[in-house]
Amino acid sequence: MLSFYNTLSGRLEQFTPLEPGKVRMYICGPTVYGYAHIGNFRAFVFGDILRRHLLRKGFDLAHVMNYTDVDDKTIRNAAAAGLSLTEYTDQYIAAFEEDSGQLRLQRPDRVVRATEHIDDMARAIKTLEEKGFTYRMDGSIYFRISAFSGYGKLSRLDVAGIRAGVRVDQDEYEKDDVRDFVLWKAPKQGEPFWEPEIGPGRPGWHIECSVMSAKYLGDTFDIHAGGTDLIFPHHENEIAQSEALSGKPFARYWLHCEHLLVDGQKMSKSVGNFYTLRDLMEKGHSPLAIRYQLASVPYRRQLNFTMEGLHQASVSIQRLENFRFRLAQTSFPEGVDEAVATKTAAFPDRLTAALDDDLNTAQALGAIFELVRDVNSAIDSGRLRSGNVADILQCLEDWNTIFDVLPSAGDAAGMGAAEDGLPFPPQQIEQKIAEREQARQQRDFARADRIREELAEAGIVIEDAKGGVRWRVKK
Ligand code: AMP
Ligand code: ZN
Repeated sequence: MLSFYNTLSGRLEQFTPLEPGKVRMYICGPTVYGYAHIGNFRAFVFGDILRRHLLRKGFDLAHVMNYTDVDDKTIRNAAAAGLSLTEYTDQYIAAFEEDSGQLRLQRPDRVVRATEHIDDMARAIKTLEEKGFTYRMDGSIYFRISAFSGYGKLSRLDVAGIRAGVRVDQDEYEKDDVRDFVLWKAPKQGEPFWEPEIGPGRPGWHIECSVMSAKYLGDTFDIHAGGTDLIFPHHENEIAQSEALSGKPFARYWLHCEHLLVDGQKMSKSVGNFYTLRDLMEKGHSPLAIRYQLASVPYRRQLNFTMEGLHQASVSIQRLENFRFRLAQTSFPEGVDEAVATKTAAFPDRLTAALDDDLNTAQALGAIFELVRDVNSAIDSGRLRSGNVADILQCLEDWNTIFDVLPSAGDAAGMGAAEDGLPFPPQQIEQKIAEREQARQQRDFARADRIREELAEAGIVIEDAKGGVRWRVKK
């Protein structure tokens, strides 16, 4: 039974889509004003795990994501860079897509840009005006929150004491600053603007998600997700706009991913405590280790980012790769060990049960490592039989359809190298040796030793020779 914690109801709920077998889902995408940091990517890795779990369960999925390519920040930065808004945001959309590929995020079924939906937004604002939910002031159009009785239901705000008619023009603001928010902003000197029937200007941030989600998923759809910082004001305002427009309930399940922290503080651009994927890859970290670390803690728990955690993630991946290598390379006596067969047969349901429980990724990791432990001890005690191997490898494959941190079994970059009796391609071994050399030069001997041990675990022995470092396969 699939259950999610729904921010709207404040409790764990059984998930049933509106239309049996079909899930309609909208996840707020990035604001493309700079490189996304790995805090942002925690939210997108969560969205990816959610997507993959729904697909693995056999749902037909319609998954939409937007690019916020017009808002206060994109406009400010484009002007500072002396570029048009499109020139400026294009490069960060390309970067986001490249980073998403490195992190193996599956592409949503539809990816949409706010600037390509300006007319749709203007029409929606006109309807809101006709329905009496708005007012105009100095060329801008505002949503009157007192006209929408459900305002505050997502973020559990008490709106009783809020002064009507007090406005905010910024796209982002805090909970203690609840106000009428801007739908359409009057043109400002030097800023891009459009000229639809409602008058010249540009959209505020919130209207884009209301309009694009309804356009592609319908007025009422199943899942709306994002990071917790979007609950207020963004998602609260989306609900107000959408329900005022259609008169119907908007999204049914609201899922919010907790923050990635650094030293106990939210990773964010404004604090400056952030790493982009590029920063970490330049330092030699693998994007798959980053994916693993981001996915390892269930999404509703905060996750503290540390280099040690990242190292642990790469060790865990290596352990799984070594395990697969060991299974593929060892020859076992014929037959089937019943105890192992029982475990592999139960594995798919264990994985499903863990993820059905509000995407409990920690439990899903526990399930695979338990299997690894059991199989390793069956190998060590001579119990494993050749008839078990395919099923064990299938469990790993199944697990990897969700976590996607292993090279696929037929992948030349991974097991292909096993043809030569190597656990990974020679370039990767050379790279690890180079990393070890660098660690030694920096007198980080603990790290150098760890790399040597990691290689040894995979059956590669390194020897410090006169002309440099040599490596060979352990006999
Ligand atoms: P933005 O590009 O600022 O609109 O953010 C894109 C996504 O990243 C949103 O879902 C945010 O809630 C999320 N996000 C931003 N910072 C963090 C963080 N430190 N940890 C987790 N998610 C975050
Ligand atoms: Zn949004």
